[in-house]
Amino acid sequence: TSFAASKLPENVLDCCKTFQKPSPIQSHSWPFLLDGRDLIGIAKTGSGKTLAFGIPAIMHMLKKNKNGKGTRNPTCLVLSPTRELAVQISDVLSEAGEPCGLKSICVYGGSSKRPQINAIRSGVDIVIGTPGRLRDLIDSNELRLSEVSFVVLDEADRMLDMGFEEPVRFILSKTNKGKWLRNQQLMYLMVMFSATWPMEVHKLAQEFMDPNPVKV
Ligand code: AMP
Repeated sequence: TSFAASKLPENVLDCCKTFQKPSPIQSHSWPFLLDGRDLIGIAKTGSGKTLAFGIPAIMHMLKKNKNGKGTRNPTCLVLSPTRELAVQISDVLSEAGEPCGLKSICVYGGSSKRPQINAIRSGVDIVIGTPGRLRDLIDSNELRLSEVSFVVLDEADRMLDMGFEEPVRFILSKTNKGKWLRNQQLMYLMVMFSATWPMEVHKLAQEFMDPNPVKV
């Protein structure tokens, strides 16, 4: 209910300094995500959902010692249905990650691949993108997801409505959930936000998430 009660490090809470207190979706999500649980959030834009997953994602990377090592293989992957939302998420995560030495990049279709490829090559911790372009970059071997251990599907219902089910499945299959779970080196987490909960989204969650995800 307060930022102090979250006991999060100061540099991680830097992006929240203009806010009075965590939003309800944040105060409900943080404890579970910090504890490594998979989570389904029914929430709309405007609820503060970006930092609801963004702050735990940053903590996850700091624990994993991924602070600005500049590797080409990201640790955190965020899927968004549209370019506009991807850019919005990327702005928030760039600002939040920067004081912690974490680099975010954003990739989307309808614009030249070259700058996005150069950004990946220069090192990335968090990649935010739309499904088609992400698949493209994976196919051309520019983006590798073998180190990804924190996955977010934002606006999952919209993503499936827009016909992205196939690339979403492809992308999720390229992360290395089995490896993280087998070695228990570190948790593998998946977060899904959706405004509605249709059958198709439910099926996707059943297939790719823990059997008992937390619902917020
Ligand atoms: P989001 O739902 O993530 O798109 O966030 C919607 C808006 O809420 C953004 O302008 C955020 O800057 C703002 N916001 C996020 N967290 C908080 C908070 N704890 N208190 C007040 N505003 C917030």
